[in-house]
Amino acid sequence: MPELSKRTESFTDSVIRRMTRISDAYGAVNLSQGFPDFDPPKEIMNELQRAATEGPHQYAITYGAKNFREALARKQEHFSGVKVDPEKEIVVTCGSTEAMMAAMMAVTNPKDKVIIFSPFYENYGADTILTGAVPIYVPLMPPAFTFDANVLEDAFKQGVKALILCNPSNPCGKVFTKEELTIIAELAIRYDAFVITDEVYEHIIYEPYKHVYMSSIKGMKDRTIICSSLSKTYSITGWRLGYVIANEQVIERVKKVHDFLTVGAAAPLMEAACVGLSFGDEYYKKLQAHYTHMKNLFISGMDQIGLQYSDPQGAYFVLVDISEYGYKSDVEFCEDLARKVKVGAVPGSSFFKENVNNYIRFHFAKQDSTLEEALSRLENMNRIMKK
Ligand code: GLN
Repeated sequence: MPELSKRTESFTDSVIRRMTRISDAYGAVNLSQGFPDFDPPKEIMNELQRAATEGPHQYAITYGAKNFREALARKQEHFSGVKVDPEKEIVVTCGSTEAMMAAMMAVTNPKDKVIIFSPFYENYGADTILTGAVPIYVPLMPPAFTFDANVLEDAFKQGVKALILCNPSNPCGKVFTKEELTIIAELAIRYDAFVITDEVYEHIIYEPYKHVYMSSIKGMKDRTIICSSLSKTYSITGWRLGYVIANEQVIERVKKVHDFLTVGAAAPLMEAACVGLSFGDEYYKKLQAHYTHMKNLFISGMDQIGLQYSDPQGAYFVLVDISEYGYKSDVEFCEDLARKVKVGAVPGSSFFKENVNNYIRFHFAKQDSTLEEALSRLENMNRIMKK
């Protein structure tokens, strides 16, 4: 067989998504890959039925159906306070996974340096390898997951093209404060870099924390490349509806990448999701209340079991410290957890650049009954898993 490509040699498939397959194989309650087991809003499902009979069933405009982009621009302006031109500043993609890849392809050349905070969502590692960019990792230090501004500036001094900012953060649940965003923004401006955001958890925030959009920080509108999606906000992860919002020149390039990579997001799904993009503030308040409920249910259960975890400010993950179980490998721990305790988790090492293997990640975007079942299984964890 001829030699396969070098660029696909040096990374594995996604550990997060692999853990879903392992959980399923062992009949575990899957708290690994983050996705809800409850329905999307009724209004969206009804619109999907309507789209099934009335269409559209053919290609939409490659960079997104006009009504979808217009609704998205209105929503984004409403929450971020920053104007968005739906014709020139948006590309609708197949999930924010494509959005991030297309953004990286649009701004980086091979060997360009890109700052990534660690722990980080594992896609960014593969994204840099696939684009040929060189990651520079800056630690977010537990337990509060703060960064050292001097270390960050040292990274910028190496000459970087972009910084990837996951806010609210997967996996650590950090919500960057306006002050922290301002520090990052000032450095991006001083060292002439883009900030590529991943804001898929923008509406999953716990009181008293608030999501501040990087694009709304002074001087950042034209430097911020927003990647986000409808997956988490409307509980439609399988619809693969994401987007990039950026200035016109960047979007021109993203449009080209997207056009040749996937042509377009699914037309009937864009049509149906428009109703979600037009929901009023009440919807987002209810979403926040629902996630607060799930978080409280899950962490109070963990308290009762006596697990040590990070209490998230946003997103829907907890990192649980497994030091006391005596495992050398968190990957082995997660396999055993799925097989013996029958609960799926993601090994923390897949998120850290540093040699950290004493965390596992659970997500709690699940119905009460699912979380209760997971907690009742986790009650056996100490007995079964301690070495
Ligand atoms: N963001 C989710 C997680 O970290 C999964 C997203 C995905 O698998 N595309 O679990």
